[in-house]
Amino acid sequence: PVRVRMAPSPTGSPHVGLARTALFNWAFARHHGGTFVFRIEDTDKERNTEESYNSLIEVMQWLGLDWDEGVVTGGPYGPYRQSERTEIYADVLAQLRDSSYTYDCFCTNDEVTERRKASGSKVMGYDGFCRELTPEQRAAFEGEGRSSVVRFRMPDGEVKFNDLVRGEIAFQTEFVPDFALARANGDPLYTLTAPVDDATMEITHVLRGEDLLSSTPRQIALFEALKAIGVAKFTPEFGHLPYVMGEGNKKLSKRDPEAHLLAYRDQGFLPEGLLNYLALLGWSIAADRDVFTLAELVEAFDIADVQANPARFDLKKAEAINADHMRMLTLDDLTHRVIPFLKAEGVVSDPVNDADAKMLELAMPLVAERMNKLTEAPGLLAFLFVDESEFQIVDAIDEAGREVVQVSYDALDALHTWSTADIETALRVALIDGMGLKPRKAFGPVRIAVSGRKVSPPLFESIELLGRDRTLARLRLALD
Ligand code: GLU
Repeated sequence: PVRVRMAPSPTGSPHVGLARTALFNWAFARHHGGTFVFRIEDTDKERNTEESYNSLIEVMQWLGLDWDEGVVTGGPYGPYRQSERTEIYADVLAQLRDSSYTYDCFCTNDEVTERRKASGSKVMGYDGFCRELTPEQRAAFEGEGRSSVVRFRMPDGEVKFNDLVRGEIAFQTEFVPDFALARANGDPLYTLTAPVDDATMEITHVLRGEDLLSSTPRQIALFEALKAIGVAKFTPEFGHLPYVMGEGNKKLSKRDPEAHLLAYRDQGFLPEGLLNYLALLGWSIAADRDVFTLAELVEAFDIADVQANPARFDLKKAEAINADHMRMLTLDDLTHRVIPFLKAEGVVSDPVNDADAKMLELAMPLVAERMNKLTEAPGLLAFLFVDESEFQIVDAIDEAGREVVQVSYDALDALHTWSTADIETALRVALIDGMGLKPRKAFGPVRIAVSGRKVSPPLFESIELLGRDRTLARLRLALD
């Protein structure tokens, strides 16, 4: 059975790369009927924050990437926060030490650097000095009061694996130095915790960002040891997802505003619109197709189709795809989703009262096709809900426009039936036939007078919805 995971560290605000990794793992799990695990790598006490942890949960819930096991939900392989697994790591570390897969290293960084300079070695990192200490050397170091770290003994030779995205990759282990598994104070490091978690949680496929590719030979070597001591049953397969590039062909970084996921929610993106776009960062459903549903993604997703080349992040394209998803929603669904944005701007009451609900039901069909993001709803709809005493004209009406408004007032005042068709006829007769105006010059000022803005939902329908009294009051206000 397929078991995959996402394992973010709770530092900073959740970013685009993390959601892409989560999405591909999720899609892989769902495609294969497997299990998607959400665990938290919070061993770095200095950099972790509870706020970041909470926003990770929030972002995953907003995106709708449901996880089968992990934080919040729990599961049979828990706990799923590394900070709650310290005994597991201590136990595995003790077993590795007992079986001589590791050794205690007493060197300081300065000593290692000195030796590298002296020898002219090009290999960065640790030189294996403490690999075979004699009991006397060891006693001497301890006598000096030196602290020690536990290092893993990298085996000689080659680590080869078949990357699910990149194909066969081989590392010569002479270039992969022995690495520390725990700090001098005993705190376990990522180098230990991630493979131990993957082993004990029986993760079958590790799909993660390319930035972690260099740690893979170490982890694969460690897996051999973990299997030997009975902690791991097998070594997972690995696949490294391409970098996401931002402006100027640089890696999208946390400093880029478009990198932050919760900002998309606040800007009115639909989660499915954003996910559709994120899926395109390294994957495609078909050569000539950009827009698809999550169900279609799950159906089609194959890790072998993911490209190794860096993907380019394009905000304009993300917005266009989101706009397509807005059009795919049913009216009910769209209404449901804009309500929080309308409440936040005070456009409708909270909870929505009957009058607002009724108006919303009538107004939504007018704007449904015109919105690219949910945040556009308040600006488009507010004029229908605002009390006459608080109504304000935002865009200006010039002298010629005032004349148009006056003529419109007279025409509508004389109108006995109040339907979209009759309103349109009355205004066309008065402004286009009567005044000889082009439609834009004719209806522009009327639109500003009744909606406050140059851009609004369809005019005649809006006037019908506003009703006779409110419309005439607004036209009069524009003339004051
Ligand atoms: N905690 C790592 C990160 O936040 C992920 C490690 C992994 O996927 O192996 O980038």
